[in-house]
Amino acid sequence: MDQKDLNIDIHNEFFTKKFQVTLTKREPINHDSYMFRFDFKNGKERLGMQAVQHIKIYGLNMNGEIVDRAYTHVFEEDGYFQIPIKIYRPNVHPQFPNGGELTPWLEKIDLNTELTIKRCIGKLLYNNNQFIVRPKVNKNWSQFNSVLLICGGSGITPAYQLIQTICNNQNDNTKMVLLYANKSEQDIWLMKELKDLQDKHKDQFTVHFTLDKSDENWNGLKGFVSLEMMTSIFPKATETTLGVLCGPKPMNKLVISLYEQFGLKKENIVKF
Ligand SMILES: Cc1cc2nc3c(=O)[nH]c(=O)nc-3n(C[C@H](O)[C@H](O)[C@H](O)COP(=O)(O)OP(=O)(O)OC[C@H]3O[C@@H](n4cnc5c(N)ncnc54)[C@H](O)[C@@H]3O)c2cc1C
Repeated sequence: MDQKDLNIDIHNEFFTKKFQVTLTKREPINHDSYMFRFDFKNGKERLGMQAVQHIKIYGLNMNGEIVDRAYTHVFEEDGYFQIPIKIYRPNVHPQFPNGGELTPWLEKIDLNTELTIKRCIGKLLYNNNQFIVRPKVNKNWSQFNSVLLICGGSGITPAYQLIQTICNNQNDNTKMVLLYANKSEQDIWLMKELKDLQDKHKDQFTVHFTLDKSDENWNGLKGFVSLEMMTSIFPKATETTLGVLCGPKPMNKLVISLYEQFGLKKENIVKF
């Protein structure tokens, strides 16, 4: 089957069929996150999706009701895939005494539990130097010379998948600049992997980290994402600049408006 066609057919079984995977590993990454490993029953199977598609994981909230949330794998081999997941625990944030609906359940279920998942299309498709922005409503592939990415916290996973895919495609020299915002240094995910990609693909990919709270040893950017910060690190916006984003809701709202002020066309701004 041709993936390029499959991707835009939301009714295809590839996207509609739910299936089971087994939770086989849950290793801490930091104070509130784990790398989850999910295994297929068949040791040869793969998610087989293109960047930037995600999966939905189904589970239970504290009332025992079925809920689902979106997640993006960062690693895949025959028979299994891995996803970093941040846990929104109860009694941590005064505004959210119950915590998140799904992630507290993901933190406490036993290893070897079977979970239901489903593949999803997402808001951006990439195939060999071509993109479809909002594939559910648009069928046209377009080319972008540069991609700007602004992510917050766990919102890095779809961006990482896209950056990795473009860097690994020898026929694609799309330039990418990532601005990755976090509360503190310990909240940064995939720092080594992102720096390695930058070192290996110097002419193509640059990453900048910014922190809300940092100490005197921090030599990255400081503070919330701002127009001034964007102007200092991003190339000038043109007709062929794509701006992507993924982060907490209030940050997303701000970033969309900042991208517009920065000069990006509205239709070239996409939230994963
Ligand atoms: C395309 C896409 C890909 C994604 N990929 C990933 C991924 O790879 N990894 C990942 O971890 N997430 C990812 N997410 C986010 C994920 O889908 C969920 O939104 C997230 O796991 C929270 O789910 P939840 O049901 O536990 O929380 P929800 O019930 O959805 O509540 C989350 C919100 O509640 C608030 N909240 C609740 N408890 C707390 C707390 N203790 N501290 C602070 N705020 C709190 C926050 O505002 C938070 O944003 C992705 C989202 C999208 C759209």
